Amino acid sequence: MGYHGPFDIDSRVSDFLERDPALFIDGARKAAAGTALLPVHDPASGLQIAEIINADATDVDRAVQSAHLSFTDGRWRNLRAADREKALYRFSQLIEEHAEPLAQLESLEQGKSINLSRMFESGASAEWLRYTAGLTTKMTGQTLELSLPPGPQHWTAYTRREPIGVVGAISPWNFPMLIAIWKVAPALAAGCSVVLKPSEITPLSALWLAELAIEAGIPEGVFNVVTGAGASAGQALVNHPLVRKISFTGSTATGKIIGRAAIDRMAPASLELGGKNPAIVLADTDIEATVSGLMLGGFLNQGQVCAAASRIYVEHGIYDNLVGALESAIKAMPVGPGLDPAAQVNPLVSKAHQDKVIHYLHDAQEKGATIIDGASIPEGSDGYFVGPKLILDPADGVALKREEVFGPIVSITRVEDREEALTLANDSDLGLTASIWTQDLQAAMNLSRRVEAGTVWINSHNFIDPNMPFGGTKQSGIGRDFGTDWLHSYTETKSVCIAH
Ligand code: NAD
Repeated sequence: MGYHGPFDIDSRVSDFLERDPALFIDGARKAAAGTALLPVHDPASGLQIAEIINADATDVDRAVQSAHLSFTDGRWRNLRAADREKALYRFSQLIEEHAEPLAQLESLEQGKSINLSRMFESGASAEWLRYTAGLTTKMTGQTLELSLPPGPQHWTAYTRREPIGVVGAISPWNFPMLIAIWKVAPALAAGCSVVLKPSEITPLSALWLAELAIEAGIPEGVFNVVTGAGASAGQALVNHPLVRKISFTGSTATGKIIGRAAIDRMAPASLELGGKNPAIVLADTDIEATVSGLMLGGFLNQGQVCAAASRIYVEHGIYDNLVGALESAIKAMPVGPGLDPAAQVNPLVSKAHQDKVIHYLHDAQEKGATIIDGASIPEGSDGYFVGPKLILDPADGVALKREEVFGPIVSITRVEDREEALTLANDSDLGLTASIWTQDLQAAMNLSRRVEAGTVWINSHNFIDPNMPFGGTKQSGIGRDFGTDWLHSYTETKSVCIAH
């Protein structure tokens, strides 16, 4: 066990990988009720680097009971808001102090470039946590004028936002640490207690985060982590009667299962789900800026980004130039493990996901699609690599035309004009993000109003900010993360009405 590859890694990472598998319950690492374990692999080599506990319903119950006790006795939610803010702020500082080993751990368990891990895992996690810490002290209710006050007495009415209770948080594997923070930070800021179940494929950083939270002064039992498979540990968490809210990020298929289970007990669920996100490129666009923006939009983290631009609609006047420039760009991408800072094509997260992406490519090939290959993968590589590809004008029936692939594959379709582009862009069950590329302000504003997506970028793609709400329309989800209203979905509104 541990990492024995060619790169030097921080000794804190080696030590972490060599520890016995454990859950994080009641402020400490704990053994499981059973003995079931799951392997964690380095996607760059396919070698096992750690083991985790495959928690069962008994383990999940222990974690939820711990969170429930910490909520009901008020050890966290009844602290002064300023003290909770301070602890969350300290938590963000500890992430910064551990930024390099945390980034290395993410590149090791997820496969992504160390540059991305530094920027979007440890770096962005600290930033989002700091933003959310600030919201802790900004919780407000409203004073209300009753519209039909009965009788002769006076009335005073107001609302309070109260923390909802134990939050069951379930996160995916594409940005393990950052998305874990997106679940845990608003819950803690609102005064809730949390049980987090990270993806079984990338579970390690969540366990480290829980330890840092304790060091930051967040009381025992307030932030627990159970590791394990979705169908067992995840399902047990969603079904637990003491879990008062579900915060889920993952695929639309799993989101539907979780949403149904949550509604059975009337537990509200925030569902951040999949995307099949269009980019609309108008003929007047600045081609150089568009190509570099679409490379980020389509190929960041090997396209394993919910917001990724996976289908591009291009006005015919610029189509050949754009395809040519994107082809050159994907052919020039250096290939290698995430720990190599020069490599831009890194492995996909798992063997199963690599097989799934290759399956989409075979389907496109069999159905006669034109596939343009980017950088090729060196022969004999044991890692889960798939080289970047462009698929030109896929016909109806090619599965990747409509389905989320979550890989380094982008389709490009020639359109007559912006109206055809918009019609095709909106012809999807999903509606997470979209981008519009043009110098024509009027066209950009017009299309941005009519495109069906939770976030629309003009002349960029994949840019997110803690102060800008993010979430899906249509089957891309329910609810919004980030922004000043972020904590609301972790609270219940209570109306208080006084006759005097
Ligand atoms: P997934 O749905 O397979 O798994 C997500 C999490 O759910 C994992 O922790 C998994 O163990 C758990 N899970 C699986 N089945 C479960 C069940 N029956 N009950 C409870 N938990 C269960 O998704 P993934 O493959 O890990 O992640 C990729 C997907 O996530 C993509 O579709 C991507 O678009 C989406 N995603 C969305 C956003 C967003 O903000 N909208 C962000 C990142 C990823």
